[in-house]
Amino acid sequence: MVYSSEETQEKLERLARLIRGAGHAEGLIPAQWDVLRYLARANRFSNSPIATAHYLGTTKGTISQTIQALLRKDLVTSVSRGNDARSVVLTLTEKGEALLARDPLATIGKDLAALRGKTQKHLGRAVADLLQSETTRQGAPLFGSCEGCRMFLAGKEPVCASFGERLSEIDLTGLCQKFRAVKSKTGQIEK
Ligand code: SF4
Repeated sequence: MVYSSEETQEKLERLARLIRGAGHAEGLIPAQWDVLRYLARANRFSNSPIATAHYLGTTKGTISQTIQALLRKDLVTSVSRGNDARSVVLTLTEKGEALLARDPLATIGKDLAALRGKTQKHLGRAVADLLQSETTRQGAPLFGSCEGCRMFLAGKEPVCASFGERLSEIDLTGLCQKFRAVKSKTGQIEK
């Protein structure tokens, strides 16, 4: 069956609502699950409250309340970032990681993995394109990982030109707030 763009939009909206609804689980609300998932994916340059707020498209005040609730539940820790008392690093606790292993959205991940082959590849590309368009329209940061970032200096010891730091294996795969998509010679963002 071929779906029209209107039908696909309607299905995307319904899926987003169902995903949101599934976030009322294990004593948490959807916004709290969103933060746990983000922190599990963020690299070390992006695990701050403000980066979390930017990724989730929410305000500093709202994210602060959500983080306070997660701190009270002992699901995350918050410590100063080096000598900068104004900036903190958020990290999942063991309890937070154990809870995330029971993420109610894991079933969607399994469904996506089960698609396989061209269907999975085309869906991935289509969703990435939609996200790119919407973040550009809203002026929101894209977020992404080092592969495909123009600040990434590959080599035996990869370096980030933006942060001026060497990148570890773990750094390379995390979501980054400073991600800048590589552009082709025609100025198009490469995918
Ligand atoms: S290379 Fe890009 S994605 Fe990687 S840490 Fe630097 S800014 Fe972030």
